[in-house]
Amino acid sequence: MKTIVMKFGGTSVATPEKIIGVAKRAIREKEKGKRVVIVVSAMGKTTDTLLGLAGEISSEPPKREMDMLLATGEQVTISLLAMAFKKLGHEALSFTGWQAGIETESVPRNARIEQIHTERLERVLENGYFCVVAGFQGVDKIGNITTLGRGGSDTTAVALAAALKAEKCEIYTDVNGVYTSDPRYVTGARKLQQISYDEMLELANLGAGVLHPRAVEFAKNNHVPLSVRASYSDEPGTIIQEVITMETNLIVRGVAFEPGVARVTVTYKKPFNGSLANIFNKLAENQIDVDIIVQSISDEFPPSVSFSISQESLEETRRVLMESQEEIGFLSMNVEVALSKVSIVGSGMVSNPGVAARMFDILRSEEIPVKMVSTSEIKISVVVPEIEMTKSANALHNAYGLSEEELIEDTSKFSLNTSS
Ligand code: ASP
Ligand code: MG
Repeated sequence: MKTIVMKFGGTSVATPEKIIGVAKRAIREKEKGKRVVIVVSAMGKTTDTLLGLAGEISSEPPKREMDMLLATGEQVTISLLAMAFKKLGHEALSFTGWQAGIETESVPRNARIEQIHTERLERVLENGYFCVVAGFQGVDKIGNITTLGRGGSDTTAVALAAALKAEKCEIYTDVNGVYTSDPRYVTGARKLQQISYDEMLELANLGAGVLHPRAVEFAKNNHVPLSVRASYSDEPGTIIQEVITMETNLIVRGVAFEPGVARVTVTYKKPFNGSLANIFNKLAENQIDVDIIVQSISDEFPPSVSFSISQESLEETRRVLMESQEEIGFLSMNVEVALSKVSIVGSGMVSNPGVAARMFDILRSEEIPVKMVSTSEIKISVVVPEIEMTKSANALHNAYGLSEEELIEDTSKFSLNTSS
């Protein structure tokens, strides 16, 4: 018998009525002859509320106790959902992370799943029950409850799907799929039918909140067919898999953007191998997350390095560098704020030269200054002024043919060709 893992996020289980709706939806799957595991998040904004409560006690609560507290959110949902199944005439059992055998490393608040002991779930599924599992939590080797980082229920679902060799993992959420860009800011942003694991991983890491990056990583490494779909409709959603077979004409599949970027430029006396290491070791020691790094060394000017960070960590970065100016050995430090990062992502870039050139052309014709650039095989990011962020994203989204109008045009061209 095939197994399916269905995951429902906070908004999809926000009220008792919605929880009953989730049970009905899972029952439909079971009636197709499947074994069904349901992973749920905490109801609505529960996790935020719990964080707020802790904040009223202490500005730095012990991380272990935070895990203990946050794990209660999901535990409420699993019990209510199991009750809903019973009420609808079906057998179900709820499981916390540790009861489901989810073993993690001992890193509070951001633990990775290490292994899953599936024996108990297997037994319960074999007996024809629904298994309802709390997302976002596990247990470390010495028995402490751990949590997997915000949005981590996705990872629970994918990891369970891999461990139970499920035929697929479906992430039910409040949007109907993965979009080419954020429709609130980009005109014509539309749902993708498919996206590759690698593309999705880039987008998730760039902050597309629809999936937890580790969930995508897990799905890729274990070949778990994954989909993101709406909990309020029967539309198929977006399928995330290794190879794309639809919309293959798209070189770029997504445009991501984020505000609140700062650029720091440090100038030093002479180039020597230690300088970069000195600077970035200091930042790393202080847990400052650096994104793009550009070093510039020429005969005419003193050597310099620029790097981007989130604007939030600017004050700390400034303090850390200034405090150790002598030790690091730099001349001056310049800062530019109110910047943003705009990125294009697509596997098609690997085999299509000129994607970056095209991107710079588009930005030039919009008169948008590019402050920094970074690339991977399937991604190009530029740092541009924050006030130009939405304009840049819209221009790129249009130019790479991602908006709805373009696709409709494409289809008509296609049918003209085939009929002639
Ligand atoms: N409840 C947790 C959060 O809000 C985990 C999740 O929903 O995925 O981050
Ligand atoms: Mg989520």
